[in-house]
Amino acid sequence: MASFAPAITIGDQMTEQLLLHMNITKKEAVNISVEMLERVGISDASHRFKQYAFELSGGMRQRAMIAMALSTRPKLLIADEPTTALDVTIQAQVIDLMKDLVEDFGMGIIFITHDLGVIAQMVDRVAVMYLGNIVEQGRVRDVIRDPVHPYTHGLLDALPKLDDLDSPLTPVPGDIPSPLERPNGCVFHTRCSLVEPQCSQSAPKMVEFADNHFGACFVEAEKQGAT
Ligand code: SF4
Repeated sequence: MASFAPAITIGDQMTEQLLLHMNITKKEAVNISVEMLERVGISDASHRFKQYAFELSGGMRQRAMIAMALSTRPKLLIADEPTTALDVTIQAQVIDLMKDLVEDFGMGIIFITHDLGVIAQMVDRVAVMYLGNIVEQGRVRDVIRDPVHPYTHGLLDALPKLDDLDSPLTPVPGDIPSPLERPNGCVFHTRCSLVEPQCSQSAPKMVEFADNHFGACFVEAEKQGAT
């Protein structure tokens, strides 16, 4: 939402990157940009094209940024926290828009987020990361309904329970270690309730727990007979 340069119009930023990436004229770049603004649901697109980021609402800026990112028709979009700081209504609109665009443009999205609700609505496959390591990955339903890694369990347990608003939140215990002092062995061992001596000595490998559902945990792998 804060990615546009504040002193350059939305349109100039959109056309500049098109001219850098595609062999087209300025007029064609303007046309493509205005069409993309319309495609992402921005009304009066040719007027918005001439405005600065501060003149647009948060949701509109997010749409304009998506329009800019997609105007060169990438095969893969990397979206880092694209719905953070949006209110839930706008967040839902942006998610719906991105889902539509995936279909229309036949592209993939790597969607980076801390919001498990957004993950559940948006993605096909999920990779759970801790300290820069993928600790679990699989189809989103499998990972959310039947997590295998203690960190994924911790993330899910930490969500507020809407059916019991009086229940206390259960955070993952401990603090995230400094990236400069990464723990030996399993990176999660300083916070894991299942920790065993081998966890601080060597790093668990990713193994398959069920069809296309992988996790990296010695204890769970042994318990569930995963290889
Ligand atoms: S390998 Fe050990 S420390 Fe790491 S998640 Fe599994 S039980 Fe916990």
